[in-house]
Amino acid sequence: MSQTNAIEVKNLVKTYGDVYALKNVDLNIADGEYFVLLGPSGGGKTTLLRSIGGFIRPDSGSVDIKGKNVDNLPPDKRPTSMVFQGFALFPHMSVSENIGYGLKIQSIKNNIIENKVSRMMDLVGLTGLSKRKPHELSGGQQQRVQLARALILENDVLLLDEPLSALDAQLRKDMCIELKRLQKTVGISFVHVTHNQEEAMSVADRIAIIADGEMIEQGTPKEIYSNPKKKFTAEFIGEKNIFNGKVIDINKSIILIDIEIDKIEVVNKNYKINKGQDVSLSIKSESIKVDKLKVSKQPQENKAIKGKITEIIFLGQFVRYLVLLNNNQEIQVRSHDEVSNINVNDYVMLSWRLEDFLVHEG
Ligand code: ADP
Ligand code: MG
Repeated sequence: MSQTNAIEVKNLVKTYGDVYALKNVDLNIADGEYFVLLGPSGGGKTTLLRSIGGFIRPDSGSVDIKGKNVDNLPPDKRPTSMVFQGFALFPHMSVSENIGYGLKIQSIKNNIIENKVSRMMDLVGLTGLSKRKPHELSGGQQQRVQLARALILENDVLLLDEPLSALDAQLRKDMCIELKRLQKTVGISFVHVTHNQEEAMSVADRIAIIADGEMIEQGTPKEIYSNPKKKFTAEFIGEKNIFNGKVIDINKSIILIDIEIDKIEVVNKNYKINKGQDVSLSIKSESIKVDKLKVSKQPQENKAIKGKITEIIFLGQFVRYLVLLNNNQEIQVRSHDEVSNINVNDYVMLSWRLEDFLVHEG
């Protein structure tokens, strides 16, 4: 991946009456990067994407594409193509006419258009379907026509707004793999908007979490999943075990935190936090170990807490335990193997590795 920026968004603000759809958003997307804007509905993703494409004029801030300011350029003068939410194909035109439309209105010669359309159809997996009308295509095929219609314009950046949301779950998974391959083949930057975290994880080189008009955090799928900095991100990607805590003591390697039920030690991963600060913490359900509590074996201080099993759910590849802690908080434990001799209402000991508890800075 080269170091130049395909897109540089600075301090973008967009309001609708009292609503801040974007609050001072900054964003850099590298050349050739598959970038995903992920977040809940109403968070500002579409507003940001459309501001990059030129369909929305922000109140303030700037957008540069390929090192050139585009603030005063209309969509068709920007080096971007957009795949809109929903299919939006011309119903009376054939597949090849839909794909070639953008070139036809530029008065490009028919034989050149035909060549390019044919190459695009092969690229997106529509070979042999050129004469079909949109209503004779499946959802997945219509989505491919949209992609081909945008890519044929050979712009520097492809903008995709919830491109897979009209497809069923299995097809969406297959199309994720295809989109990622397609992006690597054409080599341009893709900016893909979705509210679906699994979709984001499977296509992205990098993800930005956007909510309430704000850039919450950015990272690779692995960083976002394994090391979410913000509590919001942890919750959004499905973490169930969230704790409130107060920092009691910090040194370079270990932090001591009061989480109501106990005082626990966690590994200091260079968090920007201070003694006395309120923080939140999370731990993945697969990082907690459950053991039957034996009277003779008291939980080791700081590394284990006591709980009571409230539910045991068998889910094929793993078993989920719901465990009630003595502050009435219920947490989830995911185990690959069934822990022998544990039943509902049993008292258990929960243990973990110090590094598995994450502290969230905000
Ligand atoms: P997302 O794509 O993340 O779901 P949007 O960018 O569509 O979010 O919307 C961000 C916020 O701006 C929401 O509160 C939405 O209701 C508001 N909004 C978006 N478009 C308009 C509009 N044309 N008029 C008024 N409010 C709008
Ligand atoms: Mg949207």
